[in-house]
Amino acid sequence: MTKTTKELLQSVKISAAEESHIHIENKDICLEQCQKKYCTSFCPTNVFTWSTEQEKIIINNQHCIECLACPFGCPYNNIYWQFPPSGYGVEY
Ligand code: SF4
Ligand code: SF4
Repeated sequence: MTKTTKELLQSVKISAAEESHIHIENKDICLEQCQKKYCTSFCPTNVFTWSTEQEKIIINNQHCIECLACPFGCPYNNIYWQFPPSGYGVEY
């Protein structure tokens, strides 16, 4: 059975750093080249959402469970991801 984002997040504790550990390298690639916005599907906790209004990916780094999918999942290698600084991030 697939777990919902809410269920996944209930089982972990996340201390998000003020500065996001996830960035989009080039917003134009998301807008002009990436038709399917893959990151909005492969992230298990919905960190990435596409805003049609703002024409960009919105990142909710506070939901990241550090599964390491996004550095590999973006076909345009357009996501910069690093572990959060020491003392921050997810606790299982
Ligand atoms: S999958 Fe990569 S290129 Fe596509 S919208 Fe997400 S970050 Fe942008
Ligand atoms: S590491 Fe995993 S949980 Fe975190 S943003 Fe990337 S895909 Fe989502």
